[in-house]
Amino acid sequence: MEKRELVIIGAGPAGLSAAIYGRRAGLDTLVLEKGRPGGQILSTNRVENYPGILDGTGTGLADAFRAHAELFKAEIRSVSVQRLEVRGGEKIVTLKDGREIAAGAVILATGAAFRKQGCPGEKKYTGMGVSYCAVCDAAFFEDLDVAVIGGGNTAVEEACYLTGFASKVYLIHRRDEFRADRLVVDCALANPKIEPVMDSVLESIEGGDMVERIVVRNVKTNERRTIELSGVFIFIGLLPNTGFLGDLLRTDGGWIVTDDRLATSVPGIFAAGDVRTTPLRQVVTAAGDGARAAMSAYGYLHAARCGG
Ligand code: NAP
Repeated sequence: MEKRELVIIGAGPAGLSAAIYGRRAGLDTLVLEKGRPGGQILSTNRVENYPGILDGTGTGLADAFRAHAELFKAEIRSVSVQRLEVRGGEKIVTLKDGREIAAGAVILATGAAFRKQGCPGEKKYTGMGVSYCAVCDAAFFEDLDVAVIGGGNTAVEEACYLTGFASKVYLIHRRDEFRADRLVVDCALANPKIEPVMDSVLESIEGGDMVERIVVRNVKTNERRTIELSGVFIFIGLLPNTGFLGDLLRTDGGWIVTDDRLATSVPGIFAAGDVRTTPLRQVVTAAGDGARAAMSAYGYLHAARCGG
Protein backbone atom coordinates (compact mmCIF):
# COMPACT_ATOMS: atom_id res chain seq x y z
CA MET A 1 0.00 0.00 0.00
CA GLU A 2 1.20 3.53 -0.82
CA LYS A 3 2.29 5.40 2.31
CA ARG A 4 2.50 9.19 2.58
CA GLU A 5 3.30 11.51 5.47
CA LEU A 6 0.60 14.07 4.74
CA VAL A 7 -2.46 13.53 2.56
CA ILE A 8 -4.59 16.58 1.84
CA ILE A 9 -8.05 15.93 0.43
CA GLY A 10 -9.26 18.85 -1.68
CA ALA A 11 -7.28 21.40 -3.68
CA GLY A 12 -9.11 24.65 -3.06
CA PRO A 13 -7.45 27.59 -1.29
CA ALA A 14 -7.35 25.65 2.02
CA GLY A 15 -5.87 22.47 0.54
CA LEU A 16 -3.31 24.24 -1.64
CA SER A 17 -2.24 26.53 1.19
CA ALA A 18 -1.85 23.45 3.40
CA ALA A 19 0.26 21.87 0.64
CA ILE A 20 2.57 24.91 0.50
CA TYR A 21 3.04 24.89 4.28
CA GLY A 22 3.34 21.10 4.44
CA ARG A 23 6.06 21.02 1.79
CA ARG A 24 7.90 23.97 3.32
CA ALA A 25 7.92 22.04 6.62
CA GLY A 26 9.57 19.19 4.72
CA LEU A 27 6.60 16.82 4.71
CA ASP A 28 6.05 14.33 1.92
CA THR A 29 2.75 15.86 0.76
CA LEU A 30 0.09 14.44 -1.54
CA VAL A 31 -2.99 16.44 -2.54
CA LEU A 32 -6.02 14.52 -3.85
CA GLU A 33 -8.51 16.45 -5.95
CA LYS A 34 -11.31 15.10 -8.11
CA GLY A 35 -11.74 18.20 -10.29
CA ARG A 36 -9.64 21.14 -11.36
CA PRO A 37 -7.54 22.53 -8.47
CA GLY A 38 -8.86 25.85 -7.22
CA GLY A 39 -12.17 25.07 -5.55
CA GLN A 40 -15.11 27.44 -5.50
CA ILE A 41 -13.16 30.48 -6.72
CA LEU A 42 -13.05 28.80 -10.12
CA SER A 43 -16.69 29.85 -10.50
CA THR A 44 -16.15 33.34 -9.11
CA ASN A 45 -15.70 36.19 -11.53
CA ARG A 46 -13.64 38.58 -9.42
CA VAL A 47 -11.92 38.17 -6.08
CA GLU A 48 -11.81 41.60 -4.52
CA ASN A 49 -11.17 40.83 -0.88
CA TYR A 50 -7.99 38.75 -0.86
CA PRO A 51 -5.28 41.01 0.55
CA GLY A 52 -2.64 42.06 -1.93
CA ILE A 53 -4.61 40.95 -4.98
CA LEU A 54 -6.01 44.17 -6.39
CA ASP A 55 -7.22 42.95 -9.75
CA GLY A 56 -7.83 39.24 -9.32
CA THR A 57 -10.02 36.81 -11.20
CA GLY A 58 -11.16 33.60 -9.53
CA THR A 59 -9.41 31.38 -12.05
CA GLY A 60 -6.26 33.51 -11.96
CA LEU A 61 -6.00 33.20 -8.18
CA ALA A 62 -6.77 29.46 -8.31
CA ASP A 63 -4.02 28.90 -10.87
CA ALA A 64 -1.59 30.95 -8.79
CA PHE A 65 -2.35 28.84 -5.67
CA ARG A 66 -1.74 25.69 -7.66
CA ALA A 67 1.49 26.96 -9.22
CA HIS A 68 2.71 27.97 -5.76
CA ALA A 69 2.03 24.51 -4.29
CA GLU A 70 3.75 22.84 -7.26
CA LEU A 71 6.71 25.21 -6.97
CA PHE A 72 7.35 23.60 -3.59
CA LYS A 73 6.91 20.16 -5.17
CA ALA A 74 3.60 19.17 -3.61
CA GLU A 75 2.12 16.31 -5.64
CA ILE A 76 -1.40 17.07 -6.83
CA ARG A 77 -3.19 13.93 -8.03
CA SER A 78 -6.43 13.96 -9.96
CA VAL A 79 -8.56 11.30 -8.21
CA SER A 80 -11.81 10.96 -6.34
CA VAL A 81 -11.73 9.85 -2.70
CA GLN A 82 -14.26 7.20 -1.78
CA ARG A 83 -13.64 6.79 1.93
CA LEU A 84 -11.48 7.77 4.89
CA GLU A 85 -11.19 5.42 7.82
CA VAL A 86 -8.95 4.50 10.71
CA ARG A 87 -7.88 0.87 10.49
CA GLY A 88 -5.48 -0.70 12.98
CA GLY A 89 -4.49 2.78 14.13
CA GLU A 90 -3.67 3.87 10.56
CA LYS A 91 -5.52 6.49 8.56
CA ILE A 92 -6.47 4.89 5.26
CA VAL A 93 -7.72 6.85 2.27
CA THR A 94 -9.57 4.69 -0.28
CA LEU A 95 -9.77 6.01 -3.81
CA LYS A 96 -12.65 5.45 -6.20
CA ASP A 97 -10.66 2.82 -8.12
CA GLY A 98 -10.19 0.84 -4.86
CA ARG A 99 -6.53 1.72 -4.31
CA GLU A 100 -5.59 2.64 -0.75
CA ILE A 101 -3.15 5.17 0.69
CA ALA A 102 -1.94 5.09 4.30
CA ALA A 103 -1.44 8.59 5.66
CA GLY A 104 0.52 9.74 8.69
CA ALA A 105 -1.77 12.74 8.89
CA VAL A 106 -4.77 13.87 6.85
CA ILE A 107 -6.08 17.37 6.19
CA LEU A 108 -9.67 17.54 5.01
CA ALA A 109 -10.15 20.56 2.75
CA THR A 110 -13.07 19.40 0.64
CA GLY A 111 -15.06 22.62 0.93
CA ALA A 112 -18.76 22.94 0.33
CA ALA A 113 -21.22 22.63 -2.53
CA PHE A 114 -24.21 24.70 -3.55
CA ARG A 115 -27.47 23.77 -1.87
CA LYS A 116 -30.26 22.64 -4.21
CA GLN A 117 -33.71 24.19 -3.97
CA GLY A 118 -35.59 20.94 -4.57
CA CYS A 119 -38.61 22.38 -6.38
CA PRO A 120 -40.26 20.73 -9.41
CA GLY A 121 -38.29 21.46 -12.57
CA GLU A 122 -34.97 22.23 -10.87
CA LYS A 123 -33.36 18.92 -11.74
CA LYS A 124 -34.98 18.64 -15.17
CA TYR A 125 -33.77 22.08 -16.28
CA THR A 126 -30.29 22.03 -14.75
CA GLY A 127 -28.05 23.00 -17.66
CA MET A 128 -31.16 23.94 -19.66
CA GLY A 129 -31.73 27.28 -17.96
CA VAL A 130 -31.10 26.40 -14.32
CA SER A 131 -27.58 27.23 -13.15
CA TYR A 132 -25.51 27.46 -9.97
CA CYS A 133 -22.70 29.50 -11.53
CA ALA A 134 -23.20 32.96 -12.99
CA VAL A 135 -19.63 33.24 -14.22
CA CYS A 136 -20.00 29.97 -16.13
CA ASP A 137 -23.42 30.62 -17.66
CA ALA A 138 -24.29 34.35 -17.65
CA ALA A 139 -23.25 34.81 -21.28
CA PHE A 140 -26.01 32.40 -22.39
CA PHE A 141 -28.59 34.91 -21.14
CA GLU A 142 -27.58 37.99 -23.11
CA ASP A 143 -30.64 40.29 -23.36
CA LEU A 144 -32.89 37.71 -21.70
CA ASP A 145 -34.71 37.81 -18.37
CA VAL A 146 -33.42 35.68 -15.50
CA ALA A 147 -34.11 35.11 -11.81
CA VAL A 148 -31.69 34.75 -8.93
CA ILE A 149 -32.90 32.84 -5.92
CA GLY A 150 -31.45 33.67 -2.48
CA GLY A 151 -30.66 36.62 -0.26
CA GLY A 152 -27.05 36.05 0.86
CA ASN A 153 -23.86 37.63 -0.45
CA THR A 154 -23.56 35.14 -3.28
CA ALA A 155 -27.09 35.71 -4.58
CA VAL A 156 -26.92 39.49 -4.42
CA GLU A 157 -23.40 39.75 -5.87
CA GLU A 158 -24.19 37.32 -8.68
CA ALA A 159 -27.43 39.18 -9.44
CA CYS A 160 -25.30 42.31 -10.01
CA TYR A 161 -22.91 40.34 -12.20
CA LEU A 162 -25.81 38.99 -14.27
CA THR A 163 -27.01 42.51 -15.08
CA GLY A 164 -23.98 42.77 -17.36
CA PHE A 165 -25.70 40.21 -19.62
CA ALA A 166 -29.40 39.81 -18.88
CA SER A 167 -32.01 42.44 -19.66
CA LYS A 168 -33.69 41.94 -16.29
CA VAL A 169 -32.81 40.11 -13.07
CA TYR A 170 -35.54 39.16 -10.61
CA LEU A 171 -33.91 38.76 -7.20
CA ILE A 172 -36.20 36.41 -5.32
CA HIS A 173 -35.77 36.09 -1.56
CA ARG A 174 -37.91 34.25 0.96
CA ARG A 175 -37.79 37.03 3.58
CA ASP A 176 -38.33 40.79 3.61
CA GLU A 177 -34.68 41.46 4.41
CA PHE A 178 -31.51 40.35 2.67
CA ARG A 179 -28.84 38.45 4.56
CA ALA A 180 -26.09 39.90 2.34
CA ASP A 181 -23.82 42.75 3.50
CA ARG A 182 -25.45 46.19 3.42
CA LEU A 183 -23.02 47.63 0.89
CA VAL A 184 -23.68 44.80 -1.56
CA VAL A 185 -27.46 45.09 -1.14
CA ASP A 186 -27.46 48.88 -1.60
CA CYS A 187 -25.48 48.49 -4.79
CA ALA A 188 -27.87 45.83 -6.14
CA LEU A 189 -31.00 47.77 -5.28
CA ALA A 190 -29.64 50.84 -7.05
CA ASN A 191 -29.32 48.83 -10.26
CA PRO A 192 -32.36 49.46 -12.50
CA LYS A 193 -32.10 45.99 -14.04
CA ILE A 194 -32.67 44.26 -10.69
CA GLU A 195 -36.22 43.76 -9.43
CA PRO A 196 -36.36 42.44 -5.87
CA VAL A 197 -39.18 39.97 -5.23
CA MET A 198 -39.34 39.71 -1.46
CA ASP A 199 -41.13 37.27 0.87
CA SER A 200 -41.29 34.85 -2.02
CA VAL A 201 -40.35 31.23 -2.56
CA LEU A 202 -39.78 29.41 -5.81
CA GLU A 203 -42.54 26.85 -6.31
CA SER A 204 -41.72 25.49 -9.75
CA ILE A 205 -39.59 25.92 -12.83
CA GLU A 206 -41.45 25.25 -16.06
CA GLY A 207 -40.98 25.23 -19.82
CA GLY A 208 -40.49 23.02 -22.86
CA ASP A 209 -36.97 21.90 -23.71
CA MET A 210 -35.62 24.98 -21.91
CA VAL A 211 -36.83 27.09 -18.98
CA GLU A 212 -39.67 29.42 -19.98
CA ARG A 213 -41.20 30.51 -16.69
CA ILE A 214 -41.21 30.14 -12.92
CA VAL A 215 -43.97 30.25 -10.35
CA VAL A 216 -43.23 32.02 -7.08
CA ARG A 217 -45.45 32.23 -4.01
CA ASN A 218 -45.57 35.14 -1.61
CA VAL A 219 -45.26 33.55 1.84
CA LYS A 220 -47.24 36.34 3.51
CA THR A 221 -50.20 36.58 1.13
CA ASN A 222 -49.96 33.10 -0.45
CA GLU A 223 -50.42 34.84 -3.80
CA ARG A 224 -48.78 33.08 -6.75
CA ARG A 225 -47.00 34.92 -9.55
CA THR A 226 -45.82 33.50 -12.85
CA ILE A 227 -42.71 35.14 -14.26
CA GLU A 228 -41.71 34.55 -17.88
CA LEU A 229 -37.93 34.20 -18.13
CA SER A 230 -35.14 32.10 -19.59
CA GLY A 231 -32.76 31.44 -16.71
CA VAL A 232 -32.83 30.62 -13.00
CA PHE A 233 -29.68 31.03 -10.91
CA ILE A 234 -29.92 29.36 -7.51
CA PHE A 235 -27.65 30.64 -4.71
CA ILE A 236 -29.23 29.50 -1.46
CA GLY A 237 -26.19 28.55 0.56
CA LEU A 238 -23.73 25.78 1.00
CA LEU A 239 -23.54 22.19 2.16
CA PRO A 240 -20.29 20.57 3.38
CA ASN A 241 -18.61 18.02 1.10
CA THR A 242 -18.31 15.29 3.72
CA GLY A 243 -20.24 12.39 2.18
CA PHE A 244 -17.14 10.14 2.03
CA LEU A 245 -16.53 10.44 5.78
CA GLY A 246 -19.56 8.55 7.10
CA ASP A 247 -19.71 9.10 10.85
CA LEU A 248 -15.93 9.04 11.36
CA LEU A 249 -15.72 12.55 12.81
CA ARG A 250 -17.69 14.81 15.11
CA THR A 251 -19.78 17.25 13.07
CA ASP A 252 -22.23 20.06 13.76
CA GLY A 253 -25.03 20.36 11.22
CA GLY A 254 -22.78 18.40 8.86
CA TRP A 255 -19.79 20.77 9.22
CA ILE A 256 -16.62 19.23 10.71
CA VAL A 257 -15.92 20.32 14.29
CA THR A 258 -12.31 21.33 14.97
CA ASP A 259 -10.37 22.71 17.92
CA ASP A 260 -8.15 25.79 17.72
CA ARG A 261 -5.37 23.73 16.09
CA LEU A 262 -7.91 22.59 13.50
CA ALA A 263 -7.72 19.05 14.86
CA THR A 264 -10.88 17.00 14.41
CA SER A 265 -12.22 14.47 16.88
CA VAL A 266 -9.86 11.82 15.40
CA PRO A 267 -6.13 12.25 16.19
CA GLY A 268 -4.06 13.00 13.10
CA ILE A 269 -7.02 14.19 11.04
CA PHE A 270 -7.35 17.94 10.60
CA ALA A 271 -9.89 20.07 8.73
CA ALA A 272 -9.41 23.40 6.98
CA GLY A 273 -11.56 25.88 5.10
CA ASP A 274 -15.26 25.86 4.30
CA VAL A 275 -15.82 22.23 5.30
CA ARG A 276 -15.39 22.94 9.02
CA THR A 277 -17.55 24.87 11.48
CA THR A 278 -16.40 28.45 11.03
CA PRO A 279 -18.10 31.85 11.18
CA LEU A 280 -16.54 33.07 7.92
CA ARG A 281 -16.11 31.17 4.65
CA GLN A 282 -13.76 33.23 2.51
CA VAL A 283 -10.66 32.59 0.40
CA VAL A 284 -8.51 34.36 2.96
CA THR A 285 -9.84 32.35 5.89
CA ALA A 286 -9.51 29.11 3.94
CA ALA A 287 -5.90 29.90 3.05
CA GLY A 288 -5.17 30.78 6.68
CA ASP A 289 -6.80 27.54 7.79
CA GLY A 290 -4.64 25.56 5.38
CA ALA A 291 -1.47 27.01 6.88
CA ARG A 292 -2.64 26.32 10.44
CA ALA A 293 -3.76 22.79 9.66
CA ALA A 294 -0.45 21.96 7.94
CA MET A 295 1.58 23.20 10.89
CA SER A 296 -0.64 21.24 13.27
CA ALA A 297 -0.18 18.14 11.11
CA TYR A 298 3.57 18.73 11.18
CA GLY A 299 3.46 18.96 14.99
CA TYR A 300 1.40 15.78 15.19
CA LEU A 301 3.76 13.83 12.90
CA HIS A 302 6.83 15.16 14.70
CA ALA A 303 5.42 14.16 18.10
CA ALA A 304 4.48 10.71 16.74
CA ARG A 305 8.03 10.25 15.35
CA CYS A 306 9.59 11.30 18.62
CA GLY A 307 7.18 9.14 20.62
CA GLY A 308 5.47 12.26 22.03
P1 NAP B 1 -25.74 32.22 2.83
O1 NAP B 1 -25.06 33.43 3.33
O2 NAP B 1 -25.96 31.07 3.73
O3 NAP B 1 -27.15 32.70 2.24
C1 NAP B 1 -28.07 31.76 1.75
C2 NAP B 1 -29.32 32.52 1.35
O4 NAP B 1 -30.23 31.60 0.75
C3 NAP B 1 -30.03 33.17 2.51
O5 NAP B 1 -30.53 34.42 2.14
C4 NAP B 1 -31.16 32.19 2.81
O6 NAP B 1 -32.32 32.81 3.28
C5 NAP B 1 -31.46 31.62 1.44
N1 NAP B 1 -31.98 30.25 1.50
C6 NAP B 1 -31.48 29.18 2.17
N2 NAP B 1 -32.21 28.08 1.94
C7 NAP B 1 -33.20 28.45 1.11
C8 NAP B 1 -34.29 27.77 0.50
N3 NAP B 1 -34.48 26.46 0.69
N4 NAP B 1 -35.11 28.48 -0.28
C9 NAP B 1 -34.92 29.81 -0.49
N5 NAP B 1 -33.91 30.51 0.04
C10 NAP B 1 -33.07 29.85 0.84
O7 NAP B 1 -25.00 31.58 1.54
P2 NAP B 1 -24.10 32.28 0.42
O8 NAP B 1 -24.70 33.53 -0.06
O9 NAP B 1 -23.83 31.20 -0.55
O10 NAP B 1 -22.74 32.62 1.15
C11 NAP B 1 -21.99 31.57 1.80
C12 NAP B 1 -20.88 32.22 2.63
O11 NAP B 1 -19.94 32.87 1.75
C13 NAP B 1 -21.40 33.32 3.55
O12 NAP B 1 -20.65 33.31 4.74
C14 NAP B 1 -21.16 34.57 2.76
O13 NAP B 1 -21.05 35.74 3.55
C15 NAP B 1 -19.85 34.24 2.07
N6 NAP B 1 -19.68 35.03 0.84
C16 NAP B 1 -19.01 36.20 0.96
C17 NAP B 1 -18.83 37.00 -0.15
C18 NAP B 1 -18.06 38.29 0.00
O14 NAP B 1 -17.73 38.66 1.11
N7 NAP B 1 -17.78 39.00 -1.07
C19 NAP B 1 -19.34 36.61 -1.39
C20 NAP B 1 -20.06 35.41 -1.48
C21 NAP B 1 -20.23 34.63 -0.33
P3 NAP B 1 -32.40 33.41 4.75
O15 NAP B 1 -31.61 34.68 4.71
O16 NAP B 1 -33.85 33.62 4.94
O17 NAP B 1 -31.84 32.37 5.67
